[in-house]
Amino acid sequence: KSNFLAIVSHELRSPLTTVIGYADLLMKGIPEALPESVSRYIHRIRTSAWHQASLIEQVLSFSRLEGERAEINPERIEVGRFIRERTTLIAARAREKGFAFDLRVPDAPVWMKTDPSKLSQILLNLLSNALKFTEAGSVRLTFEHNPERVIFRVEDTGSGISPEHMDHIFEPFWQAEDPTTRSAGGTGLGLVIAQRLTRLLGGTLEIHSELGKGTTATVRLPVR
Ligand code: ADP
Repeated sequence: KSNFLAIVSHELRSPLTTVIGYADLLMKGIPEALPESVSRYIHRIRTSAWHQASLIEQVLSFSRLEGERAEINPERIEVGRFIRERTTLIAARAREKGFAFDLRVPDAPVWMKTDPSKLSQILLNLLSNALKFTEAGSVRLTFEHNPERVIFRVEDTGSGISPEHMDHIFEPFWQAEDPTTRSAGGTGLGLVIAQRLTRLLGGTLEIHSELGKGTTATVRLPVR
């Protein structure tokens, strides 16, 4: 099943690369400048293509984790700088929705040794959910550290998760059966991927949520 998913995802990805590539060229005015009304449509095509690409990425990552082909490639990173670099798109999407992305980074540098691409996938999955299920208020990312661990928190003031749904949120392909989730889209893989990647890096992921108030995801990872 995992192999099948990997192959199918790959075949789905190639044509999308072409769609995105040509949409990018048109947006840049190549081969010629386009009227604003047309650019707006192309912008939508591009956004949808990116969205689909990220869904395929999720399915691919999941199949890789299922197949236990995941490798860890640790690097030394400065956490604050790393997070600032990796969350520029999240900040932009929050602005588009009309609220703030509140990133709190300590003044002094914090170093850790971990797999950077896995860490960013964990945080981006959690942040994407926070953005998706929040209509007003804020999405906040903070971190603290002690000699053993770095602790990341993604907090939102969104819809929250009802207690009876909490038992299911880590099930692959599970999504709450409500209109917000449906309209928000997704694969139901974001959390299970974040959880498995966190475990792979020797850490834990916990979700606390209050319906109507918001959700907090806490990721604890070893400093090295
Ligand atoms: P996806 O977001 O692709 O649907 P996830 O595995 O990331 O899949 O999340 C599973 C479900 O858990 C979501 O569909 C949603 O119902 C719920 N959920 C996850 N994060 C949040 C959040 N921050 N606020 C509210 N609901 C959430």
